[in-house]
Amino acid sequence: MQKQTTFKCWNCIRTFKYSLEITDQQTLVVKCPHCQSQAVADLSAYPRKKVVLRSASDTEQVIEEYQLPEILPTQKSGQNQQI
Ligand SMILES: [Zn+2]
Repeated sequence: MQKQTTFKCWNCIRTFKYSLEITDQQTLVVKCPHCQSQAVADLSAYPRKKVVLRSASDTEQVIEEYQLPEILPTQKSGQNQQI
């Protein structure tokens, strides 16, 4: 599922948007378009909510969606990296 998320760069403090495929992975690695730093967002700190998706063929799919803040803070990459 594609979801547009706003990140805040740990390095230059500016924000940028990315459309990301949100899956079960708990760590997102993005690159800041302003200062080219690699930024890591840890999603495991945020609660998840079950969402029911109904497709055209009337089958239901339950996914878990992270309840993310409007602006997602990031950290410097390199520690606790899981990818
Ligand atoms: Zn930056």
